[in-house]
Amino acid sequence: EVKREGKNGYRFYSPDLDEELLFKIEIEADLRKAIERGELEVYYQPQYRMPDRELIGMEALLRWKHPVRGMIPPDRFIPIAEETGLIMEIGRWVLEQACRQTKSWHEEGQPKVPVSVNLSTQQFHQPDLEFEIERILVETGLEPQYLELEITESMMMDATLSIAIMNRLKRLGIRLSLDDFGTGYSSLSYLSMLPISRLKIDRSFVMRLEESGNERAIVTTIIAMAYSLGMDVIAEGIETEGQLEILTGQRCLEFQGYYFSRPVPPGDLFLNAADTSQGMTAEPPTAASTA
Ligand code: C2E
Ligand code: MG
Ligand code: MG
Ligand code: MG
Repeated sequence: EVKREGKNGYRFYSPDLDEELLFKIEIEADLRKAIERGELEVYYQPQYRMPDRELIGMEALLRWKHPVRGMIPPDRFIPIAEETGLIMEIGRWVLEQACRQTKSWHEEGQPKVPVSVNLSTQQFHQPDLEFEIERILVETGLEPQYLELEITESMMMDATLSIAIMNRLKRLGIRLSLDDFGTGYSSLSYLSMLPISRLKIDRSFVMRLEESGNERAIVTTIIAMAYSLGMDVIAEGIETEGQLEILTGQRCLEFQGYYFSRPVPPGDLFLNAADTSQGMTAEPPTAASTA
């Protein structure tokens, strides 16, 4: 788009920039109302352990069904929620939903597995976070060992402070995992000091496993490191049988990805639970027999 400016000067406008700014302003206003209006939902993506394809947990993933724009992915609105501070209320809401839902699955007799909830940077640094989580656990009745909080390396700019926060959280009896591992900056010596139960290998490595020997080498190293630090390791974003084979070959046994199931609304997670040979969702399972 070109706009006349002065005598013979033209100024070029970037429609993308304008759109981005408008989007942000609009989203911020709409997000304030989204909770009350019931537009937010928590989906769940199952996690499995091979070779038996045993369900070992699920990750709670936030969804926003915007009345006009349709489904807005969390990568689009969570950064805005972070900037505006709305993430505090939203994050608390997700935690409450996930704990309540998981408790109710346990009461229904579904497999007693933990739920993983993503923490935002602001939540992580919230001074009374452990009290809030304790309150949510008490109110929902979920036993602490069934809650895992996912933290990323990018939240932990101050090592001493981050370790102190994590130790306070651990005292509640919950679990901590390190999400998107390999994309951040943690030094190895630092990693060994963190009270983390599990590393989540980032999808960007898994995606290129079949094409790139470099990626395979990195993943081999991450897996070996996790085990030598006494941590579990789970691979995110598994989409193909080939990726699964490479990873199980490297002794990574926990998986989460479209190959097994997309994130689904809570009502769909245990739809086929009675028929375990068909897996937990409508996605065709093919993995259990191969590893
Ligand atoms: P994440 O925590 O790393 O979550 C994994 C993301 O990978 C999810 O995207 C999931 O749908 C996607 N995924 C899982 N398996 C596959 C696969 O096989 N292929 C592909 N292409 N993608 C796969 P989603 O749900 O869009 O969430 C994106 C990010 O938004 C999350 O990354 C997390 O950082 C953030 N997020 C989601 N929910 C929350 C929340 O409640 N609170 C906070 N603070 N952040 C959240
Ligand atoms: Mg996560
Ligand atoms: Mg991740
Ligand atoms: Mg992420």
